[in-house]
Formats: sequence, C-alpha cells, structure tokens
Amino acid sequence: MVLPSARISARIGSISESATMKVDAKAKALKADGEDVVGFGAGEPDFPTPEHIVEAAADAARDPKNHKYTPAAGLPELREAIAEKTTRDSGYAAQASQVLVTNGGKQAVYTAFATLLDPGDEVLLPAPYWTTYPEAIKLAGGVTNEVFAGPEQGYKVTVDQLQAAVTDRTKVLMFVSPSNPTGAVYSPEETAAIGRFAAERGLWVITDEIYEKLTYDGVPFTSIAAAPELADQVVILSGVAKTYAMTGWRLGWMVGPADVVKAAATLQTHLTSNVSNVSQRAGLAALTGPTEPVEQMRQAFDRRRKDIVERLNRIAGFSTPVPQGAFYAYVDARGALGADIAGTTPTTTAELAELILEQAKVAVVPGEAFGPSGYLRLSYALGDEDLARGIDRIEELLGSK
Ligand code: PMP
Repeated sequence: MVLPSARISARIGSISESATMKVDAKAKALKADGEDVVGFGAGEPDFPTPEHIVEAAADAARDPKNHKYTPAAGLPELREAIAEKTTRDSGYAAQASQVLVTNGGKQAVYTAFATLLDPGDEVLLPAPYWTTYPEAIKLAGGVTNEVFAGPEQGYKVTVDQLQAAVTDRTKVLMFVSPSNPTGAVYSPEETAAIGRFAAERGLWVITDEIYEKLTYDGVPFTSIAAAPELADQVVILSGVAKTYAMTGWRLGWMVGPADVVKAAATLQTHLTSNVSNVSQRAGLAALTGPTEPVEQMRQAFDRRRKDIVERLNRIAGFSTPVPQGAFYAYVDARGALGADIAGTTPTTTAELAELILEQAKVAVVPGEAFGPSGYLRLSYALGDEDLARGIDRIEELLGSK
C-alpha cells in the first residue's frame, strides 16, 4: 500500500514564519488600510542608503559586464575587501578564498548551519536569540539547546551556564554581540572566556557580527573570532544591511576556514548561483568608501536609544536595561502582565503585544519570538517623532509609574 504523502514536507512544515516579519507585515497592512500605526517591529534603519553607494550601484547597473553572473562565491574584489575588513575589524586573518558572499546575512546564517550540522547535532544558543536561528538549525537537522540569560545578568550568558548545558552532541556555539534582540554587548573579557570555553570543548563557534559597528557609550565591539585557538573552528557572519542602511540590497557574507567556505560555496552553486552583481558592486562601495555616513547614523541611533530607554522606564510594569549595541530595547514587561489593561488581562507578552497593536496602534515584537514570554522588543531605528508618539501611546494605555 502506498501511503499518501503530506502536501508539505515535515521539514518545511515544522518551521514557523519569522515573527518579526509577521509583526512588521501586520503593521504595514494596518497602515495601508489608513490606520496611523507606529512600528517598532522591524530591525531596519529608517535612513536611505548613503548616496555614494547608490551612485556606485547606478553606475554598475549601466555597465553590461554587470548584467552577467558573477562567480558563485562572489566578485573577487568584493571577497578581497571583505577579507581585509574581517582581518582589520574582527582580528581574524582571512584570505579572499575564505569569503562567501550571500544574499543577506540571513542566507549566511542558513548556509553556515547547513554546512556544519548533521542530523542530531546540537547548537548551544544563548537566549533571547534572533528569531531565525532555531529555524535555520532545524532546517539543517540540528537541535537547539537554549541557554537563557535574563535582564538581571544583562541578557548575557555566562561560561558556567554554557558548561552546564553543553553535551556530547554539542557541535556549535552560536555567539551574537551586539545582540538582536537585547542590544547586549559582551565585554572583551567575557568574549575571551566564552571563546576559551568553546575551544576547550572543541566546539565550533558561529559568530554573527552584523551589528559590529553599532555600539554606544564607548563600549568596544570584540570579535570572538580573534582568539587564535578558535581559528580553525570559527565562522563569522555579517553583512551591509544594518551598518549602511542597506536592508533591501540583500548582501551579506560568511567567513571561515577554507574547507568550510568551499563546501558552502558548492551549496550556493545550486541554491542562488550568486548575489546580484549590482548589489555586490554597491557593497564594495560601502566597504571601501567614506565612513562618515555610518557614524552619523550611529549617532542618531545613540540619541534615540537614550530617549527610548528613559521613556520606557517611565511606563508602569516596564523595566528596561540600557542596551549598549544594535538598535533594540528589550523591555522586561513581566510587571505589566496579569493587570487589567483596557478591560482585558494579558498573561503573556504575545497577548500584550496584540493588545498594544489593537488599542494603541503601536507594533512591538513579543518576547515569544526570541525565547521565553515576559519581554518586548522595540526597534529604535525609526524617526524621532514617531518614536516619541509611539511611546506616548503605550504609556497612555499602560499607565505611568
Ligand atoms: N543577524 C542578525 C542578528 C539580524 O538581526 C539580522 C537582521 N534582522 C540578520 C542577521 C540578517 O540581516 P540581512 O539578511 O538583512 O543581512
């Protein structure tokens, strides 16, 4: 007897839609219906891409040589620029052959897990985590082993916690600093200690450095990949989206040991062939051009960061540590659960976020998208006026301290 097969494979059927993209889509749909919605959902700078990058892309689009495929792993000059940048900024000595150019950092995440994991291999994943990691791990047949760090420890895991969670099946440790969703930044000492732990256990480290240029208060970005003992077992992921306000251009990369990058590039030959030639030229202009626009955007985020944290901390039931990187505030909203709000009593942050969207017309992402309930993520990569208006509305709904 032939069993009827399901219409959707178990592999794809088991993953969930990106919660952050879902919130953003809902907010955009409400806006399209004429609702005045303020969106704190998307992790997307509100600035346009700097002019010199756009010019480079426009020139590239007019040159017929860019109307063709590029090598699957990327344009040689872009791979070279990424290798140089990685050597300089991450302290990981990379050659161009160790670089794979991908369709955004997101594809680099997927490719890294697909290249390293066999079915049943475990990944130590500090939580709150970016919503895509567990799904990418699952797609690769891996198993996520979450290690939660709450606000009382600055949303940063300790080596003791990792020690307690590691098993004989653990192959990879995922490391993200500055973090999405919490904005936490690990200090050089904390980073080195976690790197030593991974090296001693023989783990691979995948480090997502997409927010490397966005730190505040003089806090430095430290790459875990700089630890020489990890050199053969580390994969760096990054991209242009956040640093250069280039989310729509879809350009990211993966850097690591030559054998891993070669295997990942082989996957790419069947998956996407290559990233759009024009986007790669734009990326080259971003990486080799002036840094002033990046600094200007960072300063704007810094101003909004101070503003949003101060305002959030005036709202009843909210407590928000000061984030030192990226562009997210991660609110401990446990104090707002179980109370009467506009006639209903939310008991989870999923319900609270729903209520805030319906009643206050403000989109925020519930902690459930990033790990346990009890938290809300607000991106502050939006205009100052919208930011103030949005927080005022949440305060009106939930009350002041
Ligand atoms: N990593 C992290 C931690 C992110 O927050 C994001 C974007 N939200 C990405 C990777 C992927 O970015 P992109 O695909 O736009 O380059």
